[in-house]
Amino acid sequence: MPIVWRTDPDYEATRRRMVWNERIPNRFPDVIVSVTSDADVVDAVKLARSRGLRIAVRAGGHSWIGTSLRDGGMLIDLSRLNGVTVDVAARTAVAQPAIKNTELVAALAQHELAFPAGHCPTVAIGGYLLAGGQGWNQGGWGIACSNVLAIDLVNADGELITADAQHNSDLLWAARGGGPGFPGVILRYHLRLYPAPKVIMQCLYVYPLELIEGIVPWLAELVPSLPSSVEQLLLLALPPPRVARQLGGRPQRYLTLWPLAYGDSAAETAAALAALDTCPVLDQALVRQVNTPVSFDDLFAIEAAVFPEGHRYDVGIIWSDADPTPVLSGLRDRLAQAPSLKSEILVAVTPPPTIDPSAPEMAYSMAAPLYVGCYSVWDNAAEDEANERWHRETLKSLEPITRGHYMGETDLLASPTRAAESLAPGVWERLQTIRRRYDPQGLFYGHIGQA
Ligand SMILES: Cc1cc2nc3c(=O)[nH]c(=O)nc-3n(C[C@H](O)[C@H](O)[C@H](O)COP(=O)(O)OP(=O)(O)OC[C@H]3O[C@@H](n4cnc5c(N)ncnc54)[C@H](O)[C@@H]3O)c2cc1C
Repeated sequence: MPIVWRTDPDYEATRRRMVWNERIPNRFPDVIVSVTSDADVVDAVKLARSRGLRIAVRAGGHSWIGTSLRDGGMLIDLSRLNGVTVDVAARTAVAQPAIKNTELVAALAQHELAFPAGHCPTVAIGGYLLAGGQGWNQGGWGIACSNVLAIDLVNADGELITADAQHNSDLLWAARGGGPGFPGVILRYHLRLYPAPKVIMQCLYVYPLELIEGIVPWLAELVPSLPSSVEQLLLLALPPPRVARQLGGRPQRYLTLWPLAYGDSAAETAAALAALDTCPVLDQALVRQVNTPVSFDDLFAIEAAVFPEGHRYDVGIIWSDADPTPVLSGLRDRLAQAPSLKSEILVAVTPPPTIDPSAPEMAYSMAAPLYVGCYSVWDNAAEDEANERWHRETLKSLEPITRGHYMGETDLLASPTRAAESLAPGVWERLQTIRRRYDPQGLFYGHIGQA
């Protein structure tokens, strides 16, 4: 297995490949080990133990803050572990951690099966499921980690073990949304699958930002009555390139309402989306596209345009109980001062979360009716300071209404209690107890920057 030490000539290129965000942290592992098999992972863990090195893990490298890069220690790069096998009869799959969302969705589609894979084409399931996993058709299929039935992992003793409902069940609980501080290397996720929807239908409405106050109260009132098969997102952002061409003029941000419905027929999905075509200011929509059938490939292409590669990102997502209208009005005003026109806000107005008694036991435990994502996006390192300041101040302006954070897309380095604030009360403490039990020497790095 390739082992790259800090003094090796290809060290810096290898290190930089570990992080998708162009804003690569100045943290330097002693050694980066690229594994291709279970046995490699066992060997790597034993090597780290023998050298007194702590271990960090990387699957798809999409942590916005590059949590896998630590100062010192060993980084185990799993990126070649990206296979999947499907048991069609049992409607389950066994997937390796570095499989990307697009690869997983394509493999399952061959069998007319599906999984709530994440929205971005290139995110890998390794970190996504540990974070919780906000994926496609979440209303129908649940938060992605609730569909993890078991995991196979290498523990701190270098042993290959399984965690399921009967064995090491607290490790399975931790893997379902406990975040990037897991005490082991997960080799395989055993996943529950669903019949693939026969139809995915999309609508797209683009409005001037000035109409926020005319749209958001209507949407907030409508949302509780929408079928759970409907997913909708509000974007305060530059429009996708195809829509931008339609709008012409100089580049500027708009309010885009993007609803989707999953179902068995065009009639069913169109009916599910019908209420979204009743906005009181519909006649002022600059773009109105209703009931367009789309594939997962189409959806991934849209997401790839929303989060372009090769950029510098600062990202924060909060959960809130606040009235969405003043929140969005305030964010519109803040966006007007953003140093980069590429910076954007994504908002999901959802029904109040309910506790599903049939849901599996899981660490994932933070949710509220309003989900606000602030994505600061820019091109050059010379613009870091201005953009980082704007981002920090924007999230600060949201503090009074912040109930909690989303573990998968929050900046854990912003506060030593940020991971705890991304979980329900008591969950962080239980996670730490599990870490101490399975990894008493602290061989595996915990959540970065946490007390
Ligand atoms: C463009 C983009 C779009 C995104 N969209 C979404 C989205 O739609 N929904 C959503 O929920 N999230 C989304 N995210 C966030 C993403 O899910 C998290 O950043 C996630 O951690 C990425 O997983 P990864 O394996 O690619 O990242 P990595 O950086 O490789 O992993 C992150 C951390 O997870 C841990 N880890 C990963 N694999 C393992 C393993 N096998 N064993 C033990 N620990 C492991 C490690 O601590 C690692 O440092 C998005 C991120 C990006 C960059």
